[in-house]
Amino acid sequence: MMNFAHIDGIVVSTDHWIDGERVSSARRFDDHSPIDGGLLARVSRGGAAEADLALSAATKAFPEWRDTPIERRAAILRRMHDLIVERAEDFAQVETADQGGLLSYYTGERGIRRSASNFSAFADMLLERTDPAFTGDGYRSRVSITGTGPVVLVNPWNGPLLLESWKVAPALAAGNTVVLKPSEWTPLTASMLADISAAAGLPPGVLNVVQGLGEEVGALLVADPRVRRISFTGSVPTARAIATAAAHNLTPCSFELGGKSPFVVFADADLDAAVRTARRQFSNAGQVCLIGSRLLLAEEIYGEFLDRFTAAMDGFTVGDPRDTDTDMGPLIHHEQFQRVDGFVQRALSDGARAVFGGGPLRDDGSLYYRPTLLVDMEPGAEIVTEEVFGPVLTAQPFASEEEAIAMANGTRYGLTATLFTDDEVRAQRVAERLNAGTVWVNCFWIRDLRAPFGGTGESGVGREGGEWSFDFYSEVKNTVTGE
Ligand code: NAD
Repeated sequence: MMNFAHIDGIVVSTDHWIDGERVSSARRFDDHSPIDGGLLARVSRGGAAEADLALSAATKAFPEWRDTPIERRAAILRRMHDLIVERAEDFAQVETADQGGLLSYYTGERGIRRSASNFSAFADMLLERTDPAFTGDGYRSRVSITGTGPVVLVNPWNGPLLLESWKVAPALAAGNTVVLKPSEWTPLTASMLADISAAAGLPPGVLNVVQGLGEEVGALLVADPRVRRISFTGSVPTARAIATAAAHNLTPCSFELGGKSPFVVFADADLDAAVRTARRQFSNAGQVCLIGSRLLLAEEIYGEFLDRFTAAMDGFTVGDPRDTDTDMGPLIHHEQFQRVDGFVQRALSDGARAVFGGGPLRDDGSLYYRPTLLVDMEPGAEIVTEEVFGPVLTAQPFASEEEAIAMANGTRYGLTATLFTDDEVRAQRVAERLNAGTVWVNCFWIRDLRAPFGGTGESGVGREGGEWSFDFYSEVKNTVTGE
């Protein structure tokens, strides 16, 4: 049986993609759009049979894909890039309907095209790699680097195709076969990616997409002893569950987790640039792991910054993400909405003050929340230590560079940090002392695809991006020949 969703005239399969074929499950889960709650799709809900089928296919396809010449692997990945770009508008429509992010973002250079770029960038990097060799007195040492086997890639809902492509592309480039488990909240663009892979000539079984719930098919996939690598992006509790399952098989894991990142503005900063960038912390309704949700402001400019930021929010529009004048769309689902509002209401009742926002946009059960800036929290308050994952920022003053660093480092997380200052020496000095995998100085959300991304503390384990991805997805063998 074949099943499809129809989204703005775009037809998307709602079934799994296993061994080069669509596979349907009798059980299904409903996929709703956060824009208006409408039912988008009834998606195949995988279980033990589908997990086994996908891992069997990936295991069978592995030796041939591992031994496929890198030129051929790279050519298929480049073709995947081209085909995604050709269908970028369709991908963007579907992603917006499913995820609720701005259509203008998904159609732009940083959206679907950026996802496509992962395929071309890892193809380029693959062709540039050379296997290291060493010679010494009486021996030659040759290091060969190959794929590891079937890998399981588990993804969240907040940047579906972007985060999936970021794992799928290097895993395939390095010669692994893949079982991709998209989030049950945003299953659709992964299904489109499966079609792209077939059209690009990826052999059956090399990329498999299994749809379903995390605690069901996700848990089965990560616990399977055939799996040689697990890459997971999502929340800390899920990472703990996956690490526990993986420990049994000693399966190496890479974790990209949450954040509570600082956004530090020194008194000498270009305040216009800092305010413009602060406004971007509401991207994707704040549902971005890397946003700087804690504004730490030098006390000399604290009041002025808040005034300017409030003025800059004038005309900020929350609404349908398909409208071109919308700045921010809905939250992903009701549980997330309640969670975000719970954080805000507890903070307000504990004495915090909302400079702007502070609650839902409407009380009609829709998922639109007002962009919110809170001040006057108690030190150590929940709202400044826990990840909200919504359009909620806090602002706190600091009196010295030392204090700014201590506050910036004052959470269990360490994903990113953003600094605004005119003093390059200070920027360097502060950056070195911050617990963060990425530090942005006078800029935000820029990453060369060859550069690493990841976090310290509860923000993750390991790094991905560029060579760091290749390292994770590779098996390394040192062959020493005596002479
Ligand atoms: P989540 O942990 O609830 O789910 C993520 C994925 O894990 C989903 O596909 C889900 O089905 C699956 N899953 C759930 N339980 C599982 C289990 N027991 N075994 C295997 N798989 C399981 O996270 P979410 O709510 O989808 O995403 C939000 C979180 O992701 C936030 O904390 C955010 O900061 C984080 N995130 C991090 C990054 C990063 O790069 N560091 C990027 C995006 C999102």
